[in-house]
Amino acid sequence: MFRFPDLPINVVKPKEPVEAKIVESKICTLESSPNFIRHIVIDVSGTPLVGQFKAGQSIGVVAPGVDADGKPHKVRLYSVSSPSGGEGGNPNLVTTTVKRVVDENWETQELFTGVCSNYLCSKKAGDTLMISGPSGKRFILPENKEECNYVFFATGTGIAPFRAFLLDLFNSGFKGQVALCFGTPYRTDLLYHKWLTELAEKHENFHYFTAISREGRRADGTKTYVQHLVLDHKDVLEPILAADNTLMYICGLEGMEAGIYSNLASMGLYDYMKPGKNILDKPNTEWTWSDFKENVKPSDRTMVEVY
Ligand SMILES: Cc1cc2nc3c(=O)[nH]c(=O)nc-3n(C[C@H](O)[C@H](O)[C@H](O)COP(=O)(O)OP(=O)(O)OC[C@H]3O[C@@H](n4cnc5c(N)ncnc54)[C@H](O)[C@@H]3O)c2cc1C
Repeated sequence: MFRFPDLPINVVKPKEPVEAKIVESKICTLESSPNFIRHIVIDVSGTPLVGQFKAGQSIGVVAPGVDADGKPHKVRLYSVSSPSGGEGGNPNLVTTTVKRVVDENWETQELFTGVCSNYLCSKKAGDTLMISGPSGKRFILPENKEECNYVFFATGTGIAPFRAFLLDLFNSGFKGQVALCFGTPYRTDLLYHKWLTELAEKHENFHYFTAISREGRRADGTKTYVQHLVLDHKDVLEPILAADNTLMYICGLEGMEAGIYSNLASMGLYDYMKPGKNILDKPNTEWTWSDFKENVKPSDRTMVEVY
């Protein structure tokens, strides 16, 4: 039922990156967010990457310089947020959505700034950078995309591939059901929120739900995370998830899968997961929280990209 294309990868290898140009870089968090996240448009014209990046795939970015061991920096991956035909239908333009990694070194108390995310976010229109790709073969839409339904779960910059998928789907008149569950710490971090809200207003087959974890509390005093949306919007999500032509996609923070699997299991929706080798003989009704975290794997109907 689900047929996936065999997309070319590494047309440009990470060890031999090509030069591309930043066309635009704009903050895409709202108001005074504590995070810095940018929507970055890259021009790949004149390189073998023209028209190569499909929704769900990633761009490789190689920051200049060397790491602490004196070796050239390793390639970092950034999900494409533009549709398969390129941003605005231009095959020369590919976009991504990048969060500056800023942290405190817990040992030295010194400020730690991630190498590549800061390199990328500091680039301005007209600057060049070295990129490779495409990367990723599985986190993509099926060939027969119009015959399926979709439930997407995103946290933070995990929204990037879903912007791309939604553009691919609705640019080609998608008539099935698609739901997006998006979790962020603060309302100011709801990336592409205006566009997503308008898309949901325009298409009654697109359902957009948000979970804000650090503002307000649930009735039992706990925070609302993306997995709670499965239960909070059961009336809409359960019939979509129960249909046998539905695919589930999860993208964002590593570990976000466990809560989603656990809540799906509470509704008897086991088709989206399968036991890992440690729990092969255990009935699914006996899976514990640590099984959902460590031992439950995505089934063929679930695509996961977490980092
Ligand atoms: C398939 C895929 C898709 C991705 N898509 C996106 C995307 O669309 N957008 C996006 O923003 N990111 C994305 N990422 C993540 C991205 O690839 C990078 O991992 C991220 O930007 C961090 O890279 P960096 O070079 O800035 O940080 P690095 O320099 O690699 O540091 C990474 C982490 O190491 C820790 N760390 C290392 N050294 C120290 C230290 N001395 N002190 C304190 N902490 C330290 C920090 O916690 C830091 O978060 C994706 C990853 C994958 C695998």
